[in-house]
Amino acid sequence: MIRLKSPFEIDCMRKSGEILRDCLLFLEERVKAGVSTKKLDEFAYEYIKGHGAEPSFLGFDAGMGVPFPGTICASVDSVVVHGFPSERKLKEGEILSIDCGLVFKGWQADAARTIAVGEISKEKRDLVDVTRQSFFEGVKNFKEGNRLGDISSAIQLYCESRGYSIVRTMTGHGIGREMHEDPSVPNFGRAGHGIRLERGLVLAIEPMVNMGTWKTHDEGWLCETLDKKPSAHYENTVALTENGAEILTL
Ligand code: MG
Ligand code: MG
Repeated sequence: MIRLKSPFEIDCMRKSGEILRDCLLFLEERVKAGVSTKKLDEFAYEYIKGHGAEPSFLGFDAGMGVPFPGTICASVDSVVVHGFPSERKLKEGEILSIDCGLVFKGWQADAARTIAVGEISKEKRDLVDVTRQSFFEGVKNFKEGNRLGDISSAIQLYCESRGYSIVRTMTGHGIGREMHEDPSVPNFGRAGHGIRLERGLVLAIEPMVNMGTWKTHDEGWLCETLDKKPSAHYENTVALTENGAEILTL
């Protein structure tokens, strides 16, 4: 069931989104070679708690056997999403996808960035840039009267026409009181298909884009590219308001 949000509810979600936006900026400044993802996870936890919010991912039980152990998902290079924060230190040339969610006064926000660790190859830079831009191509289609498939297909076409592939096993989602609400928002699909987009719809739009094959190895929380080539992730929480699509976490 899709739960549309009132202007007042979207205003509440703006506040959650602002905290998450600033938290991710705070983390980005701290990404460098020699820092462990566990340390970044601690920074995120303290930041979120310090702003009166609660981490949504920590302890999240998705039926994977173990609850998620971190405040952030920290996914390096070939790990698509859901990487566990660990003591392993980041290395120059890696890309780190940080996905983070929080709840503030009962309203969720969810966003992700892929960040370069120092200098990265041109191939990785291009992957990160295309992933980010594909999100905006999707958002251009998030408007009243369009259909969900218009967002999905815009993301897919943008990435595939540049030689990248789209992860199939993970999708974006509705968001509100719950982190994951209906509808599911695939990053692939057919324009003109799917539900009609209405004012009050709030979506986490999140392309996950691979340099090589779209196929992934999914086991428990693990989601890694099958060919071990790099993957990037970019996500924001976006509301459809009377003024059009508004990105709440940017
Ligand atoms: Mg996320
Ligand atoms: Mg999400």
